[in-house]
Amino acid sequence: MIDPRANSPERIVPPAPLPVVSRRRLLKIKDAFPIPTSCNCCNGDRVRLVENSEIYNGKSFGDWPYAYLCMDCFAYVGLHPGTDLPLGTLANKPLRNARNSSKGVFNRIWREGHMTRDGAYAWLTRQLGIQASECHFGLFDIERCHRARTVCEQFMATTGRRKA
Ligand SMILES: [Zn+2]
Repeated sequence: MIDPRANSPERIVPPAPLPVVSRRRLLKIKDAFPIPTSCNCCNGDRVRLVENSEIYNGKSFGDWPYAYLCMDCFAYVGLHPGTDLPLGTLANKPLRNARNSSKGVFNRIWREGHMTRDGAYAWLTRQLGIQASECHFGLFDIERCHRARTVCEQFMATTGRRKA
């Protein structure tokens, strides 16, 4: 769902420390995830919008160097550039690792030409028995990461190998 502010005539006041929230950028985000007010990793409620230099040893990182950060467990998530919308849910180190490794196996399926990227997402959605709107690695919890990794590895070990 597109963030309703994208189509509202009112000026969008950017939350600190963001310089702006771009309506044009909001319009491009088809699956807008909710802005986190509590932490999905530790259930704490001290989630702050910060410059990501608070995460990366005092150095800011990227063109849109902001993040939602849990002040209790230091799980975090980056933002869609030009907006205050998170790229997914917060992740601590084990969850970041699980998302990266499962997405790495998944990406091979379309990068090596076994399916189109859209086709691979549709396939993964069916394999996991979830809604298309839920099929984003940035939303997955550890258990779903492991399940995704398993079905992708099985695919690569059978179909993927045959075609290669
Ligand atoms: Zn937390």
